[in-house]
Amino acid sequence: MAVLSSAKRALPWGRTSAGGVIGGLRALLGTDGGGGRSLLPSRWKSSQPQLDPVDRSDEEGGGDIDWDNLGFGLTPTDYMYVMRCTQEEGGFSRGELARYGNIELSPSSGVLNYGQGLFEGLKAYRRADGPGYTLFRPEENARRMQHGAGRMCMPSPSVEQFVHAVKQTVLANKRWVPPQGKGALYLRPLLIGSGAILGLAPAPEYTFMIYAAPVGTYFKEGMAAINLLVEEEIHRAMPGGTGGVKTISNYAPVLKAQMDARSKGFADVLYLDSVHKRYVEEASSCNLFVVKGGAVATPATAGTILPGVTRRSIIELARDSGYQVEERLVSIDDLISADEVFCTGTAVGVTPVSTITYQGTRYEFRTGEDTLSKKLYTTLTSIQMGLAEDKKGWTVAVD
Ligand SMILES: *Cc1c(COP(=O)(O)O)cnc(C)c1O
Repeated sequence: MAVLSSAKRALPWGRTSAGGVIGGLRALLGTDGGGGRSLLPSRWKSSQPQLDPVDRSDEEGGGDIDWDNLGFGLTPTDYMYVMRCTQEEGGFSRGELARYGNIELSPSSGVLNYGQGLFEGLKAYRRADGPGYTLFRPEENARRMQHGAGRMCMPSPSVEQFVHAVKQTVLANKRWVPPQGKGALYLRPLLIGSGAILGLAPAPEYTFMIYAAPVGTYFKEGMAAINLLVEEEIHRAMPGGTGGVKTISNYAPVLKAQMDARSKGFADVLYLDSVHKRYVEEASSCNLFVVKGGAVATPATAGTILPGVTRRSIIELARDSGYQVEERLVSIDDLISADEVFCTGTAVGVTPVSTITYQGTRYEFRTGEDTLSKKLYTTLTSIQMGLAEDKKGWTVAVD
């Protein structure tokens, strides 16, 4: 794999540039056998390694994983990527891989006290047409993080730094990339105000990190269609708020709606706009599309809706196959009179919706083989997994 930045340096877990494994444990404990000090600032050393400490970053096969029943649970992997930005340095400099594990934070860090943080989510797939892995439009995630960082008064990594970091994280954890067709390695970049601050203000220091986990399907329904509930009391976003950026502070406030819906057997809720309570926006972690006749509509991203990379890709793919796609207000009437409804997102892929419950009435939609969502799902995943030619230049090779 590509060495971090300077070819002569040993990797943080003690592998020499010649490729020999010195021993992850020594690197982990910061005792490189006297051969050199640990490259990580001590405060970022993982305090609790989750896995056996041997360096397995060159191994291909995953341990005892049941690849057929992955779901979206957290399977800890070997390495995470860490890059810091301090006021003195004036930007993100050089990041490093570290053993995956707990991190240390000041109790008065900006992220813990004021929620100054952003996350991202993207997947690495094992390539079908040869060795190596592919990422799907990682620059889009990088740009979205930059945009969100502006809103949250944080510095952000450059697109190049972001994509490089993602690639490093994949390569260090390659034994955790599921076999073709079984899922993907989900990458979770975080950007947090890690510096200590008491009064409400931007933190004096920031940390960008990425961890990884192998995942299968997001909903417990698997690939099957889901049932959604329209939420009328709790809103996820408001005009002028932060619904359009992936800030960590958007998600805990919707747990209540999500948990209540789950207890009634729904996979998730659909949020309505907070002003008129009449226009559907999206679900807790995915975007929404409605299909009627040959027309497809999805709520326009005007600040209250998260601009999904999958959403944007699906709009393009649907247009390519002759559908008219409108980004506009989608009323509750448009929704309940639709032929077909589906959700999109990195985690959920393209998930068909079989019913939506609104004010006690259950509305049904077409699902199955002969649907647009199925067609788009196949087209999208074929590109992502390298089964179809990527004419759009959306995939990025990692090898
Ligand atoms: C992440 C997210 C999405 C989907 O975005 P993708 O880039 O397609 O993964 C949609 N809605 C919300 C609220 C999200 O957090």
